[in-house]
Amino acid sequence: MSKAHFGLIGLGVMGENLVLNAERNGFSSVVYNRTFSKTEAFLHSRGSGRAITGAKDLRDFVDQLERPRRILMMVKAGQPTDAVISQISPFLEEGDLLIDGGNSLFTDTERRVAELEKKSFGYIGMGVSGGAKGALEGPSMMPGGTKTSYKAIEPLLRKMAAQVEDGPCVTYIGPGGSGHFVKTVHNGIEYGIEQILAESYDLMKRVCGMQSEEIADVMAYWNGTEELGSYLVEITEACMRVKDPLDSTHVVEKIMDKAGQKGTGLWTVISALELGASVPTIYASLNARVMSSMKTQRIQAESILKKIDIKHLDFGNTSDGMKPLMDAVVLATIASYAQGMELMRRASSEYNYKLHMPSIAQIWKGGCIIRSSLLRRIQDAYNLDPQLSNLLIDPWFAEQVIRRLPGLAKVVSGAAQVGVPVPCLSSTLDYINSYRTARLPQNLVQAMRDCFGSHTYERVDKEGVFHTEWI
Ligand code: NAP
Repeated sequence: MSKAHFGLIGLGVMGENLVLNAERNGFSSVVYNRTFSKTEAFLHSRGSGRAITGAKDLRDFVDQLERPRRILMMVKAGQPTDAVISQISPFLEEGDLLIDGGNSLFTDTERRVAELEKKSFGYIGMGVSGGAKGALEGPSMMPGGTKTSYKAIEPLLRKMAAQVEDGPCVTYIGPGGSGHFVKTVHNGIEYGIEQILAESYDLMKRVCGMQSEEIADVMAYWNGTEELGSYLVEITEACMRVKDPLDSTHVVEKIMDKAGQKGTGLWTVISALELGASVPTIYASLNARVMSSMKTQRIQAESILKKIDIKHLDFGNTSDGMKPLMDAVVLATIASYAQGMELMRRASSEYNYKLHMPSIAQIWKGGCIIRSSLLRRIQDAYNLDPQLSNLLIDPWFAEQVIRRLPGLAKVVSGAAQVGVPVPCLSSTLDYINSYRTARLPQNLVQAMRDCFGSHTYERVDKEGVFHTEWI
């Protein structure tokens, strides 16, 4: 019997769809799942009639693969990934390649790359984005590790990836855990944009008194623009329209207002703090999820701290896409990307990842959750200036900031007056206003630090380090 080209471990939502994608692209496959009944169920359903076989144990799995073996793991991140690596390692031989496509912490990937490359196995830590549909039809993939290992899997990945006008949505990201780092930042940006759209929905509903269908119409308008045309705006429109067949009311209004988070948003913020990158919009989105999960406390506080009595405000018309609100959403979305790109730039220099920013923007243009028409502008901005310190000062983005800032300020101040929380929009306003202020009040902070702790300070009028006896 001829050996299979490709092996997949982990028949969860992602694994199942990715192996169907590989097989469709001409790579016969063998699958293994810890719980064998899932393998059997898959082979009798979506996997039937295809060049896909199953293995009951890892020895059989490895034996069914041609050499050098190419194995993709799609299992839960953390301990389960380590468990699978240690279970399969005894069966691997020199030159075999193991790819972790899960959402692993990039420092775990650094460790695994070092350990496995020592044993002469190739190891790739690869971020995959696109959800179930993307995995099947073409995801965006962010592989990191040694270049030689990447080359061994490149033909397969290029065929499996989403395709955009300038090529497949996969590229070699860089060494070590860089692929998982870039995927983490992708998810941080995703957190930001989701929260921004949730805030705009809240404003349209509670402050502008709009119905679900009207809000959906605004989303459809936004999705037709260059600045906001994106997968996330598209699915927001869909989420606003779907009705419960039982009573014809909108499903979204029946969903509990508690948002979960699995780690990548938190890791983005931790990395940003460690690397000294300013990511307030992304941080605000993470904190909004944390606050949302405090449902019991919020119910109690609403009665003690006085329920907000909303007054209606005018944020424009549906026909012009709620202009000031659109300004606010565009700038907060741009800020999310700008903060993510800035974080990657710092990580690239700190960890020597040598990230190529235009290529990262390119592979995010299709397949992934944050795909949007803005990414072409981001790609152009970094092609124009590979050393760009912040997206906001690229000419195209700077014009957006200058033109749309009054709209953002109007929405944030209006929301503040009526008491509706807009954490991402207000953080964005502070972010942009801070970034465009040459002199911030941290001179006083430095004075206080020197006063209580003799931390010393620098001066604007002469070189050196100074200390003053303040009291
Ligand atoms: P998942 O629910 O995260 O993982 C399910 C798979 O992991 C199953 O095959 C399960 O096997 C296996 N597994 C769990 N613990 C294991 C252990 N200790 N040893 C061996 N196998 C173990 O499935 P998923 O949503 O498809 O995600 C897979 C990976 O992709 C995760 O790292 C996830 O974060 C990442 N990811 C997910 C998405 C998404 O949209 N869902 C997108 C991008 C990346 P059993 O059947 O035996 O339990």
